Amino acid sequence: MLYFDHNATTTLLPEAKRAWLEAVDSLVGNPSSPHRLGTRADAALESAREGLAAALGCDAGDIVWTSGATESNNAVLSHLARSPAGRPDEVLVSAVEHPSVFSPARGHFGASVKTIPVDGRGAISLEWLEEQLSRRRARAVAVMAANNETGVLQPWSEIAALCRSRGVPFLCDATQWIGKLPASGLGACDFVSGSAHKFGGPRGVGFLKCPSETAFDPLLSGGKQEDGRRAGTENVAGVLAMVAALEVRESALARGAQRERIEWREEFEQALTGELFGASIIGAGTERLWNTVSAMMPQTDCRQRWVVKLDKAGFAVSTGSACASGHEEPSHVLAAMGLEAGEAGRVLRFSSGWETTHDDWRKLLAGLKEVHGAMLELKPT
Ligand code: PMP
Repeated sequence: MLYFDHNATTTLLPEAKRAWLEAVDSLVGNPSSPHRLGTRADAALESAREGLAAALGCDAGDIVWTSGATESNNAVLSHLARSPAGRPDEVLVSAVEHPSVFSPARGHFGASVKTIPVDGRGAISLEWLEEQLSRRRARAVAVMAANNETGVLQPWSEIAALCRSRGVPFLCDATQWIGKLPASGLGACDFVSGSAHKFGGPRGVGFLKCPSETAFDPLLSGGKQEDGRRAGTENVAGVLAMVAALEVRESALARGAQRERIEWREEFEQALTGELFGASIIGAGTERLWNTVSAMMPQTDCRQRWVVKLDKAGFAVSTGSACASGHEEPSHVLAAMGLEAGEAGRVLRFSSGWETTHDDWRKLLAGLKEVHGAMLELKPT
């Protein structure tokens, strides 16, 4: 089976597995315990904290270990909602955020959530944001680094600078960016969330970068772990495996290993749109992750058929959103980019991993052509 669904989850890296196994064998204490076994586990957590902080460019004290990006995003919005009275109500949230940002934002702030629009290519307008922030202060701004459905990148560095100059806290969900592009500089955002299993670490562990110099109202209370910012015994083995995975990904990035992968993706996209009449690329012409292709497929039938038929042919791919005639909701990301429900219903997402080869992309193209041919033959006349 060729796996083209890495934006959903990645396979565990051998280095991460090794770090996890070593930790469960040798770090048996609870990091909060006062004895030597506890102190050893705590020291390992602290050294992992320093490693991640160095990659992001922030203080080790700014890192809080969590169960993943969903928790991290929820924690930030819950904290912002409990900020002292007198703060502005409005929270500016990009139209293409993950539900783990949107849902708690709406839950805590209701009608005070203002959507930051995106253009037809999926990018937010900095000018629009600047204009909004010059008119009135906002409680916070939330814009993701890279989109999970389309791979479209947002100008998070510029947004961080803009928010800083206006004194507005900025949440950057970097779940799909980390491990695919250099993490360096993300520490300039007030809040950053990430999940290990998106870059070769285990599931159920992640982090939140939040400024240590200001008080943080925890989502989970009932323990003094993580400086009172997240109660609950830390997942030591998971954290060590996550940081081991990040090191592998960061060194691949430092070698420039992403460059040839951009070319493979581009070659695939050109061949797909050139050889499958009616296929087009979502977010074409804007900066996107090297691993993600969001493609509107030729008009055939519900795209769920594509997924099932490709699965049978040996390819694991994903729908960008729901089948127009299925039970899922149509994608809010594609809708925000101006796609009609019928068009969004034809979108497939192919997301490669670091281990995906040039040849794998070619095989996927051949598989798509074959499945398409078979669908055309089946189509009633
Ligand atoms: N944010 C983004 C952009 C994501 O892609 C995901 C995972 N699909 C999450 C947050 C949530 O991550 P997790 O399920 O690991 O908590």
